Amino acid sequence: MASRTDLVEELMSRYPQVPREAVIKEDLLRGGLAFDDAALTDNENGSVKPKSYFIFSFDHRTLPELGTAALRRPPEEIVLTGGPYELRRTVVSVRTNPGSPYRVGTDGDGRLRLSLDGRPIADVGLPPMPAYYRHTLANGKSVMEVAPTIQWGYLIYLTAFRVCQYFGAKEECQYCDINHNWRQHKQAGRPYTGVKPVDEVLEALEIIDRYDTDRASQAYTLTGGSITSQVDGLAEADFYGRYAQAIEERFPGRWIGKVVAQALPRADVQRFHDYGIRIYHPNYEVWDKRLFELYCPGKERYVGREEWHRRILDSAEVFGPRNVIPNFVAGVEMAAPHGFTNVSEAIDSTTEGLDYFMSRGITPRFTTWCPEPTTPLGRTNPEGAPLEYHVRLLGAYRATMDAHGLSSPPGYGPAGPGRAVFSVSSFMDTLSPEAP
Ligand code: SF4
Repeated sequence: MASRTDLVEELMSRYPQVPREAVIKEDLLRGGLAFDDAALTDNENGSVKPKSYFIFSFDHRTLPELGTAALRRPPEEIVLTGGPYELRRTVVSVRTNPGSPYRVGTDGDGRLRLSLDGRPIADVGLPPMPAYYRHTLANGKSVMEVAPTIQWGYLIYLTAFRVCQYFGAKEECQYCDINHNWRQHKQAGRPYTGVKPVDEVLEALEIIDRYDTDRASQAYTLTGGSITSQVDGLAEADFYGRYAQAIEERFPGRWIGKVVAQALPRADVQRFHDYGIRIYHPNYEVWDKRLFELYCPGKERYVGREEWHRRILDSAEVFGPRNVIPNFVAGVEMAAPHGFTNVSEAIDSTTEGLDYFMSRGITPRFTTWCPEPTTPLGRTNPEGAPLEYHVRLLGAYRATMDAHGLSSPPGYGPAGPGRAVFSVSSFMDTLSPEAP
């Protein structure tokens, strides 16, 4: 049987236009990586920035199954360089999988290395503990809990509402573990605030603003679960919008404000904009009509795919098409039991969706699907989607973008291999470094 190394090298040679860095990164994102104990962090007391669990678990095992990695968290991200593939600097979000053929450990000289099938393939750098994580709010809460940063410090990730009102098998997106992740952190006795008070968010941002002296943080994302009724007496646009309003009043223009929310009616989208949000992510999740209906049953039932897409187009009139960046979850197209079984068909379907939006000046982006074990699709597809799908998608994404004369979307930091910091997909590693 071919090894994982064989698969990786075969795809590198079949698709030379896709950077090697991106092939490795996609494989790590779809299948996770293991850590020797020596490569774990000392949580918030050490010198390495720990994994914050900023919204989903993004792990291949539940916390109780992670062993030492549940007690001493893995790092939030790793940066890969060098090795036999001569990797340029590549930032990768950490998705823990004790069964992965990729393993981070120390070599004889005490240096951290990433190995694949037992062979070292890259040097590993760890994110230093940011100065702002060493301070707490007046009530004792940590900055990591209230306002964690990802993408090597570029993005402050504000999951204001830690659960989703699409609840249970008939409503939750079939690949999403937001509600389970909330439960497992509660059960483990970890601090995990369900609804983040606005004043706590402002206090955490004040600490970040004070100690982020080289201004690595450039953007914030407001997000959380969908709100189908109300939270704190507010519907979705006003619930998430009130944070932006408070942030922009207190720190005008300090960061680029983004919101990941449902595709809302135009009046609500206008309110987001009025509150000071500049980039809107009304995620369409998966393009294929049948798969959207089956894998996003709550969104289909409450809004419906056609209306969802119509609202995305409407929102481009409010934000400008460049600033509407809907996400899809790359890989669920191929998830059993209903997904495509043929990579070419899955790529064709995904490209049709890219074409639909890009022909209108809207640039979708994607995160690489992590098959978390407590989700229906994670259970039936523990290996995720084929690496070939992910590699070919990168080529199709770039080609579609070029065909429509678009460049990398705003709010994602630098593009290009060796430069990108976006850590949950390698689309930014694959694009031209001149952009944006
Ligand atoms: S809308 Fe779907 S993907 Fe988003 S938080 Fe809810 S269940 Fe998860």
